[in-house]
Amino acid sequence: MPGGTDQTLRPFLWRAERLFDDTEIVSRTSEGIERYTYAEYGDRVRQLANALDELGIEEGDRVGTFCWNHHRHFETYFSIPSMGAQLHTINPLLPRDHIRYIVDNAADRVLFVDPSLLEALEPAVQSPEFDQVEKYVVMASEVPETDLDAVAYEEFVEGHSTEYDWPEVSQDQPAGMCYTSGTTGNPKGVEYTQQMLWSHTMESLTPQGIPMDEDDVVMPVVPMFHVNAWGMPFTATAGGAKHVYPGPSPQPEDLASLIDEEGVTVTAGVPTVWLGLMEYCEDNDVDLSALDRVIVGGSAAPRSMIEWFDERGVELLHAWGMTEMGPIGSVAHLKSGLEDADRETQLEKRSKQGLMTPGLEFRVVDDDGEEVPWNGEDFGELWVRGPSVTTEYFERPEADEEDFEDGWLKTGDVVTVDEDGYIKIVDRAKDVIKSGGEWISSVELENAIMAHEDVSEATVIGVPHEKWQERPVAFVVPVEGADQAAVEKGVMDLLADEYPDWWLPDDVVFIEEVPKTATGKFSKKDLREEYADEDIFEGSAPEEAAPEDAE
Ligand code: ADP
Repeated sequence: MPGGTDQTLRPFLWRAERLFDDTEIVSRTSEGIERYTYAEYGDRVRQLANALDELGIEEGDRVGTFCWNHHRHFETYFSIPSMGAQLHTINPLLPRDHIRYIVDNAADRVLFVDPSLLEALEPAVQSPEFDQVEKYVVMASEVPETDLDAVAYEEFVEGHSTEYDWPEVSQDQPAGMCYTSGTTGNPKGVEYTQQMLWSHTMESLTPQGIPMDEDDVVMPVVPMFHVNAWGMPFTATAGGAKHVYPGPSPQPEDLASLIDEEGVTVTAGVPTVWLGLMEYCEDNDVDLSALDRVIVGGSAAPRSMIEWFDERGVELLHAWGMTEMGPIGSVAHLKSGLEDADRETQLEKRSKQGLMTPGLEFRVVDDDGEEVPWNGEDFGELWVRGPSVTTEYFERPEADEEDFEDGWLKTGDVVTVDEDGYIKIVDRAKDVIKSGGEWISSVELENAIMAHEDVSEATVIGVPHEKWQERPVAFVVPVEGADQAAVEKGVMDLLADEYPDWWLPDDVVFIEEVPKTATGKFSKKDLREEYADEDIFEGSAPEEAAPEDAE
């Protein structure tokens, strides 16, 4: 027999409002720190639904947001899906052409925009792709100077009833949407049904996910335009936690003061965010004592980061995921059998991408289509399936054939799995360096280099080579004031200790900053473009640097 109701987001809000009515939602906005309770939140969510209703927004309509992390954005998270409409979060850091494409492709009828992002949006708005947008709502109490015909959010919701009769929304109704930044061509849209978001929330809430409880204070630093801030606004609400939103472009000092003043226990973001906070903490007196765990994902968490947080009594949970899966897929919790293992073993496990969260299945498939054994050595492409994993792209049947098979999502990540079931990403399929027919993991080299104390960022890419097809070159950002020659020697010695000769980079290039993608990851594509004219890309390598020299 089926259950009494469909799997939708609405009961999470209902529970938080009724059980934790006076728990706070705190937000750093351009207008200062704002705070209210779940009780007021619920009222505002329903006021917003009434305002959208008056505009004629109906089940199946898409509503876009172009916003950072704050309470108003969070109000759209429950209001829009619970009306049966679809919340489409747009990444404002994408190139303008991509923004045009996705607003048009998603056919957004209303756009919520942050005041600080108006300037970025205005030039795009003039194009025909925006013709179907009927209303712009600026996330503030007043509309700043703009060419856009817009209304302020507070004016938009003001005067509307705090009651709203939510419709019975089907679990198959699309509730959310996010585009993944395609490496080639246009971004690909991923739709999340009510049931997918519900499942993702429940998977996250399990002890082996990224659980959040009513005594937690949750601060998603990962932007809400990026896969629903890893689902945290939903997970935190389902758990009844206090929310803290760090607002537009938060800097390390903003994060440090929110952690301290609001007593943040759980936070999450990409490694670059934490590198910034770590550096800030070295120079300033920051109280991190409230902090219990930091979820790090999006790209690999360097081992040195795990150790840094360990030293401060904070657990770093390394997580892996994708836009296509809502996004959390695996988390590197220590299995109970490893609790007494030596520190080295524990760190090795925790540096991996971890154990698949409950509800999901995976397989690792080699070039011949065979599943590879779980021995920590053989690798292949990771395939994933489960109730929170998409099985198609929005209006992209041609991509579907390549990326999905019998309900499995082909992730494009190349991984090994060890005897304990820990997944380790060896590389993106496209970033793996192929030298003399053998594979070199750029990710491993990067992590090893970033463990050097005088290195702040590093990335390794394959450059073309006449004899070996490709050879690794390291791009390194030294910490301020470091002596480059010493850093180069230090890095090479460190790598030589751990890796065979043929893995060692042919060159170390010092740069000021590693270019980042719209989601804050190292962008190898931009790096390649930036250094395209350098000799390095003509390639030359010492003769001894060959796979057959490997021991
Ligand atoms: P994009 O960054 O292209 O918009 P996603 O945000 O969906 O797309 O990125 C998903 C990809 O990010 C994964 O397939 C994987 O390659 C990488 N990734 C995510 N988490 C991790 C992690 N913990 N370690 C290494 N790579 C990761």
